Parts: sequence; C-alpha cells; structure tokens
Amino acid sequence: MPIQSPRPTIKFPTIDILTWIFDDETSTYDRSKPLFVNASNPEEYLTKNYLKELTMKIGHGLRELAGVKPGDVVLCASPNHLLYPAVVFGTLCASAIFTGADPSHTEFELSRQLQSSGAKVIFASATTLSVVSTCAARLSISTVHIFLIDGARDGFRGVEDLLNFEGQNWPRLTTFQEVSSTTAFLTYSSGTSGLPKGCEVTHWNAVSHGISFLSRSHRSSAQKFDPENKNPTPITLVYFPLFRAVSIFVSMITGTRSGNLTYILDPQALSAILDAIQRFRINDLIIFPSIAVPLAKSPIVKEYDLACVTQLLCGGSPLGSEVALAVEQALDPDGSKKLRLCQAWGLTEITTIATAFDHGDWDEETQRLAVGPLLSGVEAKIVDGEGAEGVQGELGEIWLRAPFVFKGYWNNDEATRETLTPDGWLKTGDIGKTDYRGFFYIIDRKKEMIKVHGLQVAPAELEATLLSNPDVADAGVIGVPCDRDGNYGGEFPRAYIVKSNSEATASSIDAWMAKHLAPHKSLSGGIEFIHAIPRNTFGKVVRRSLQDWAAESRANA
Ligand code: AMP
Repeated sequence: MPIQSPRPTIKFPTIDILTWIFDDETSTYDRSKPLFVNASNPEEYLTKNYLKELTMKIGHGLRELAGVKPGDVVLCASPNHLLYPAVVFGTLCASAIFTGADPSHTEFELSRQLQSSGAKVIFASATTLSVVSTCAARLSISTVHIFLIDGARDGFRGVEDLLNFEGQNWPRLTTFQEVSSTTAFLTYSSGTSGLPKGCEVTHWNAVSHGISFLSRSHRSSAQKFDPENKNPTPITLVYFPLFRAVSIFVSMITGTRSGNLTYILDPQALSAILDAIQRFRINDLIIFPSIAVPLAKSPIVKEYDLACVTQLLCGGSPLGSEVALAVEQALDPDGSKKLRLCQAWGLTEITTIATAFDHGDWDEETQRLAVGPLLSGVEAKIVDGEGAEGVQGELGEIWLRAPFVFKGYWNNDEATRETLTPDGWLKTGDIGKTDYRGFFYIIDRKKEMIKVHGLQVAPAELEATLLSNPDVADAGVIGVPCDRDGNYGGEFPRAYIVKSNSEATASSIDAWMAKHLAPHKSLSGGIEFIHAIPRNTFGKVVRRSLQDWAAESRANA
C-alpha cells in the first residue's frame, strides 16, 4: 500500500496560476504594501497591485510587440532583478511558457537551452546581452524578440517598451482538462541520466504545489491583515538565482499569493547576505547546504544580529545533522528562539518540494536526520530493484505520485516514459526509507546527477564537452565528495580521461571546460588520465567502477 501524507487532504481548485495568486478574495491584506523589494535599493519595490498591472501590460506587450502566441516559449537569461517576477507572470499572461536560464551560461549552454526549448522571445540583461545576442543570431531569433530587463541599450528594446500597452486580463483556465494540460514552465533538470531536459510544469502542478506547500504550516495559506501583528508577515530574502525552481514556485508564486515581503538580492558573498538579513529583519529564511556550512562555521556570522530569523527551511542536497545543529546554534546562540532548521526534499520533476518539516511536527532526535513527512496530496512508495514495493524501514528507490508531479520532459517522450509510470508514479532516482511516523530519510542517489552548491551538473553534459575536445579520446565523469569550499558536504565533478595525444594536460582540459561551460561545472573534483574508460556492453560508462577508483584514491590520500 502506498504511504499517504499524514497532512490533511486538500481539494485543489482548478484555476490558473495568475488567478490563484492575484485574485485571492479570501485575503484582506494590504495590496498596496511592498511585495518584492530591490535589496540593493529598497526604494524600488513592487506592490501586489503594481505587479498585477505590470503582468498584464507585459503580457499584452508580448502579444502585440513580439507576436507571442499561446504555447510559445519565452526565455529569461538575467541575473536577479526586481522585474523578474513581472517577466515571469507577464509571460503567463500572454498564455506563453516561461523558462529561466542560468545567467552564467556560456554561448554553448545557452544555445542548447534555446534550441531545446524552442524559445521565441528572450529577456536578457546588460550582463548577458553579448552571449544572448550571439546565440540568437546563430539560431535566427530576430533582435526585435530580445528585451532587456534592465532597460533598452545598444539598439535592443527594454521591458519598458512592453509597458506601452494598456494591460489586458489573462485568459482564465477553469477546467481540470485546461489546467492540467496547459504547460506554464520549462524548468531544466537532467533527471535520472543524460543531458538537461525541460520539465513541463502545468498550471495545475504549480497551484497544487503552492497550496500544499503553504498548508504544511500551521500558519494560514494567505496572510490575513493582522492589526496587532500577532502573525507577522513572513519577510524573506532571495539571494539565490531567480531562475531556479525554488525561486519560481516558492518565492515568487507562493510568495505573491500569500503576500510575503520578499527582498531580491543578486547572489552575493556571505557578508552581503548576512547584512541583508540584519538590515531587513528577515524572519523566514530558505537556505541550502552550500550556505549552511559557512553559516555554521564562519566567524563573521557573530558580527551580525540575526535574532530576527525565526523560520529556517533547508533543502536541495543532503545536509549532515551536525551541520544542521551548528546552524541552529549560530543563529540562536542562547537557544532563546528555539530555532529549528526544517529540512525539505524534492526535485524539479515534482515542481519543487515533496516532503518538508514544519515547526512543531518533528522531534529533536530525528528532525536533523530526516527530510520530513510528505506534503498534502503526495503519496509515496519505496521500491526495490525489481520494482516490488518494500516495507517501512527498508531502503529502496522512492517513487512519488501527486498533483504536482510534472507533465513530462519537453519533446522527449523516451525520457518521460523512463521517469513516469503509466499510472502516474515518478521514479525519483533517490534511495531512501521511511519510519513509523512517515518521516523520510534520503540515503543515496541512484541517478547520475551531481549537485554542486545545489545546482545540477549532468555527467553526460561534461562528458560530451570533454569528447568534443580533439585531445580527448574518451571520458567518464562522476561526482565525488570534496572538502573544498569549507567542506560543505556536497559533490564536485571528477573526470577520468583517455588522451588522444600528448597535448592533453589537466590545465588545457580545465581551460576547455571553462570556455564551454559555466564555472560550477568545472572539474573541481580532479582530473585523472587513464588508459580505458570502463563501459558496459551497451557502451554506457560504468560509473560504479569510477566511483570505486575515486574512493580508493581518497583512502590512499
Ligand atoms: P533538483 O531537481 O535540482 O531540485 O535536484 C533534486 C535532487 O536533489 C533530489 O532528487 C535529491 O537527489 C537531491 N536533494 C534535494 N533535496 C534534498 C535533501 N533535503 N536531502 C538530500 N538530497 C536532496
């Protein structure tokens, strides 16, 4: 029998994302108060009313000025910017599909996302314009379909050009058929294996995920106007890239719906993040293991008054229980706040989050080891190697079923069939177990994906890039634990390479990778030259053997 969520059952409404976030008649909070604020210049902000107005103008502008039609894809390659949420929602208002690209993408990476998504319109910024315009020219995307989020320049139009149109309401989606078949986002994930693929997330997925995520908490799903300020509005900080799924589905969509006050900061050094937390009295903080370690260990943390932080959610990669405890102690040195780090686990293919703790539903001993109970609406089973369902406490691959399991990989039926069963189960590729309370524990990963500082790195992409180098005859890539960057407990890519000539050196390979791929995909776990890559009879790299070699050299180091 599948494991059911212990949380209350919810009947999810069949409405589109914009109607859910903007037309919330049950909430009475003040829509003219700041909702998104530029953390670098707090005088710049968007209220909910203004964001709605911008959404409708951008949506109408995209239709009029760029000829966007329902189902077209709009890509945004920009660092964090106050107008980013308006671009996301404006795209939905034009009945188009939004895909966010990493602003550190090289031409090679961006071209691939543009090609794979088939994007028709691109939002760029001053910093990404050169890469964007080169890729667009190569793919024959007209310059009139490029808009700069931070204002027109060099003959390219800016977002402001889209605002010259009187806002028009978005077409409402009202039936289950409409909301569950209409794709709203393509979020990129390598899934169990292979290159990054676009996950189709529908309106039904995003709204049910948002409702389920908000209802995990004893707090209400929409902030009510509260004159005595008994339930202070969550004040959050987005210091991680806005193109990530957690930013879109948690910070932007559920944040807008519930009227959270969100400060947008461009990803920065720890001191700038701590400064923003102190300055803006951030009370509800999302963290990742890659920042948890510096938070726990860096001596500068003590220089800031972080008493404001009362909610702490962490996910994205495994987190050691000692680190979790150390973060709690760093942010609550005298224990007076009873601050507890709540772990969450999820994946791009389930919109974002599948399990999460909330304050009050854990105990001291397990909350730092487990990733929480299932969110409302999620069912799970633990499956062994033969596909049989295991029992509680046994290890196996976790399969999930929920209204927010994605629709499938964009234009990739084969990968979709490998990941989704005909009866709707998502094979997560994570190995884990549950206990008698329904808490989940993530123990290992069956899939090949490497997570570097919370960002996905697909070994297949690194191998393809290595093989495109004429000095490389063959290559295999794995993720290895590494004690660089403060031993944050994450992984780094390590390559095993067969040379095709004597020109190949570790530094020439590093330079090749830096030219083609974003910095987090560098081979920071090391390069080793070998005579042959272990491959099975189908020609697939036997990563297990590479893992064994890596473990051996760690043991001998
Ligand atoms: P992504 O699709 O980029 O969100 O990556 C999803 C993968 O990250 C999951 O399948 C897990 O392997 C890993 N992951 C996410 N959250 C956690 C967590 N709390 N603990 C352990 N692994 C996690």
